Amino acid sequence: MSNNFLNNPIEYLKSVGPHKAEMLKKELHIFKYYDLLTFYPFRYVDRTKFYKVKEINADLPFVQLRGKITHTKMVGEKRAQRFVAVFADETGNLELVWFQGAKWISEKIKPHQTNEYIVFGRPSLFNGSFNISHPEIELVSAENTTFASALQAVYNSTEKLKARSLDTKGIARMQKSLAALIRNNIPETLSKTILDRFQMLSREEALKQIHFPLNAEILKKSEFRLKFEELFFIQLKLLKQKGLREKTFRGFVFSKVGDYFNNFYSDYLPFQLTNAQKRVIKEIRLDMGSGKQMNRLLQGDVGSGKTLVALMNILIALDNGFQACLMAPTEILANQHFETISELLKPLNINVGILTGSKRVKARRLIHEQLQSGEMQILIGTHALLEDVVQFKNIGFVVIDEQHRFGVAQRAKMWAKNAQSPHMLIMSATPIPRTLAMTLYGDLDVSVIDELPPGRKPIQTVHRFDNHRDRVFGFLREQITLGRQIYIVYPLIKESETMDYKDLMDGYESITRAFPMPKYNVSIVYGQMKADAKEFEMQRFVKRETHIMVATTVIEVGVNVPNASVMVIESAERFGLSQLHQLRGRVGRGADQSYCILMTSYKLSSEGKLRMETMCRTNDGFEIADVDLKLRGPGDMSGTIQSGVLDLNIADLAKDAQILHAARNMVIELLSEDPNLEKPENSRIAYQFALSNTSRTNWSRIS
Ligand code: ADP
Ligand code: MG
Repeated sequence: MSNNFLNNPIEYLKSVGPHKAEMLKKELHIFKYYDLLTFYPFRYVDRTKFYKVKEINADLPFVQLRGKITHTKMVGEKRAQRFVAVFADETGNLELVWFQGAKWISEKIKPHQTNEYIVFGRPSLFNGSFNISHPEIELVSAENTTFASALQAVYNSTEKLKARSLDTKGIARMQKSLAALIRNNIPETLSKTILDRFQMLSREEALKQIHFPLNAEILKKSEFRLKFEELFFIQLKLLKQKGLREKTFRGFVFSKVGDYFNNFYSDYLPFQLTNAQKRVIKEIRLDMGSGKQMNRLLQGDVGSGKTLVALMNILIALDNGFQACLMAPTEILANQHFETISELLKPLNINVGILTGSKRVKARRLIHEQLQSGEMQILIGTHALLEDVVQFKNIGFVVIDEQHRFGVAQRAKMWAKNAQSPHMLIMSATPIPRTLAMTLYGDLDVSVIDELPPGRKPIQTVHRFDNHRDRVFGFLREQITLGRQIYIVYPLIKESETMDYKDLMDGYESITRAFPMPKYNVSIVYGQMKADAKEFEMQRFVKRETHIMVATTVIEVGVNVPNASVMVIESAERFGLSQLHQLRGRVGRGADQSYCILMTSYKLSSEGKLRMETMCRTNDGFEIADVDLKLRGPGDMSGTIQSGVLDLNIADLAKDAQILHAARNMVIELLSEDPNLEKPENSRIAYQFALSNTSRTNWSRIS
């Protein structure tokens, strides 16, 4: 089996000279036959449908017509000449116009009594009637019927390429030349077992049909085949990596549940655990006792009680004589975790420390010492934990909260904090759609908390326009009278921090005017504030000394003030769905009815409207995550850090969940039967796998 054919440089292809090749490389990263063949259409136009002239309207992007040319004429001066052909069917007529190549086309197209043409193009309205400029046109003849009776591929191109006639038609022409060369020279990559199981097209057939589908059914089969293959090899990579890691890296065996856990559980647990929490604590405990190093993603909606789950497992680490740490993305959150956890653990006499960027050198040194001596059992902190000077005596368990703020490199750094790597639990801020989790974190085990603590009243969410602000303020005053507290959040976008700062300050001013002292107290917290000032303001709010907290998204993650029951989000249209959901999750934590008010201007994009509607419709983070994925696509959702790994060429995580599941299950089955891909029947898979590991996509970034 050889890939020589696919490896041919693109300039070998008929009509692609060195010049065009250079442009294809630069503009579309097409270097070889393979790259062109896998440069898939982004949509198809249905060439099986014929319109009548009478049916043409401005909404139709393309039309295909069948009729005769009644007369033709050359219009205009020598150098600006255009060729016009009048086309007619039994319902009417329209003009076909050529501005370029007028002379040449005029030789080809002649008025005729009986000859019929098929015309295809984009109609445009000109002086009250439709015309089509530069249509595709073909004489109907006995042998020339295939092209016009199929779905026609449309390709993306760039301005530069279009200028050199490599528009969608130009690319289709290249694809046609390439397709003509395909004759049993595209190696199969999947095993016969898999092909049979899913009744899949061969790779060769799929690659041909994807560009020139005979009909919609075969197109669908081709898409399935190619999507499956793409997802299959990603999953193979992830799951093989996982297997390898589990074999290579032994894990600490946490063999017992001891006094710390048991005493806390029986005497100091502030509430009953939900069943989901119990189940997940057990999953984690079993994993940490198994002898392999745990790498686990903990998914759960906002407020589902992930922190407590983490804490219970931290106690198990301590029971087995290890230290543990918890890393959070912001100082506010780290401080808050520190307070809750040290409060909860006070009766157990456990040494808990906090390390953040704003800690004084002297305090830090003390922490470093206590960590190395083993005196400090639990360390909570921010990125500061990653620094090399932070060394433990014997760390056995690492929890990373709100993982979307951290990258893979940071995970790896925590791995290296002990000679044998500690167990890892990473917790998501808001749910990630399963398809995305399986791709981004496909090498991790996953636990899901799918239940909220009892007694939570669903948050009521409404969308209000800016000019209803007075009424909104009236509502806020009522809530304050009832003893509630309020968040008012302004967007913060990195690129224009100064402008956002101004928005925030303007907002703060108008809030203090509408809620004047001494009756009302208003706090403010934003990113660039000094850490201790931030902490001071947070504490005032926690202690109920202030009624309103004006803030940027620094309070987005994790902050927990149960008495705060109203979340007002200003310029809500500027936030993404998961961020809105995360912000909303700051309320609804106490016994009182909570509210979320989304303020926007009247000018809303349709996507913005959909986001507001989704927020008002549901409180379910998993449902919101799915909508988010459909709206934004996987790259955007996962943040900048890992988006590179989601450069899928044909599969779509928002739409192809079923194919992904099928591919992943197939990989699991395959690896359980043939973990090293040594069986002869899997040789094609092994070969392709080796090949894809040396190609330019660097998958190692995600583990
Ligand atoms: P998240 O999963 O968003 O990180 P937290 O861990 O901050 O959620 O928990 C949210 C709130 O729910 C906290 O105030 C926590 O004390 C409370 N909580 C957690 N578990 C339970 C439970 N089983 N019953 C009642 N309240 C709980
Ligand atoms: Mg949390």
